[in-house]
Amino acid sequence: MDIYEQLATDNPVSQELRDRFASVMAQEIVGTVRLPYSFYAASASGSRITDADGNQKIDLTMGFGPLILGHNHPVAVEAAQAAVDKALLLGIPNAYQGELAELLVEASPCAEQAMFCNTGTEATMYAIRLARAVSGKTKIAMFDGCYHGAHDNVIMHGVLNPDPSEPSHKPMGHGVPRQTVDQALFLPYRDPHAFELIEQHKDELACVIIEPIQSSNPRLDVGEFLKELRQACTRAGVLLIFDEVITGFRMAYGGAQERFDVVPDLAAYGKVLGGGAPIGAVTGSAELMKPFDLAGAENAIFAGGTFGGNPISMLTGAAVLRYLRENQHIYTELQAKGDRLANEVNIFLRDGDYPAQLMHADSLFHLIWTRDPIERAHSPRHPYIDAENLFYAHLLHRGVIIPGLHLFFISAAHSDEDIDTVISTTKDSFEAVRAEGMV
Ligand code: PMP
Repeated sequence: MDIYEQLATDNPVSQELRDRFASVMAQEIVGTVRLPYSFYAASASGSRITDADGNQKIDLTMGFGPLILGHNHPVAVEAAQAAVDKALLLGIPNAYQGELAELLVEASPCAEQAMFCNTGTEATMYAIRLARAVSGKTKIAMFDGCYHGAHDNVIMHGVLNPDPSEPSHKPMGHGVPRQTVDQALFLPYRDPHAFELIEQHKDELACVIIEPIQSSNPRLDVGEFLKELRQACTRAGVLLIFDEVITGFRMAYGGAQERFDVVPDLAAYGKVLGGGAPIGAVTGSAELMKPFDLAGAENAIFAGGTFGGNPISMLTGAAVLRYLRENQHIYTELQAKGDRLANEVNIFLRDGDYPAQLMHADSLFHLIWTRDPIERAHSPRHPYIDAENLFYAHLLHRGVIIPGLHLFFISAAHSDEDIDTVISTTKDSFEAVRAEGMV
């Protein structure tokens, strides 16, 4: 029996669920997480997910990043329950938004004000709309390897051929208008030529948006680049947006801004900010944030939606933020655990001459399948796809979940023993793939 058949045999309920829902579900959570086997989660606690068949596994998905304290941390759960007792949804102004705004503004170095929405996608969309309104310019610049959410303005990827220093770009999938694609300029990541391109295009650029740490290529040697980018944007008079959707409250309590000591003009947030409940936010100076005043500002923009400021997201987010602010040792601990995990796995991979490397920045990881030095985000089409799929199947079979995107997180709930298990399971799974003659 091969590993895929084994997974099917071990997970009859997951199999049944997939068969039952296949006809009504156009896609699962994210289009990119399609797995080559059936696997459905049922509940979660701490570092563990219990799957639909009742097996417990160590989870490294962590809800794609929001769950920095682990699944269903009591601080988050109690806050969410208390919020439900007050009101599921209010729709009219409430103090809960203001309280989260106070915390966010205190933590976000570029912020004097915040506005809330429901996802990171909305946050980058509004940040870009704001930058266009403030600057009166239209084009937006972003970097190869970036991800800024699912809206038309940004759902594109860089094309590095023929000249990686001047990447062109393509929409990710169909349905994005050509005109929208033409409004984007792609910049080379960690390449000073980006600064020349910003200077060249400054008269048409509303903003430069960047993930201070790319989830497709997580690494910490980007501080100098971010500082120089800040200077290049200031020189060119182009607004700089940090997409802190992942890095916010993860790389430090003050996010990548604090970690690298670089202050953008605007920042977009999501994930950890909501403590596990849906959220997005834009922050900036009071001056830059003026257009959010639809009635008062000359260059006002429309923003907002039904679920903005809902008590569950606001109160859960505020409770988790207060907890993080008071327990900042969590960041040092995550860093130590993350470094140990990456170091041990990378030594194993190097010594065994496996074609993979574990990129990481503290608690954020991406296992990339190549032996070559990693400068840029790696193409999802590479010669080791079958081995890669097999590796994740072995990993799951042995009790560790990494989502289909292959970027993953550890949380404060992952104990040293969990990290040991992840390391040994990773090694065993690579060895199993080798035993099948795949690498
Ligand atoms: N920006 C970044 C850097 C992200 O990682 C994500 C989500 N993974 C988004 C934006 C979009 O956030 P959401 O999925 O909440 O829309």
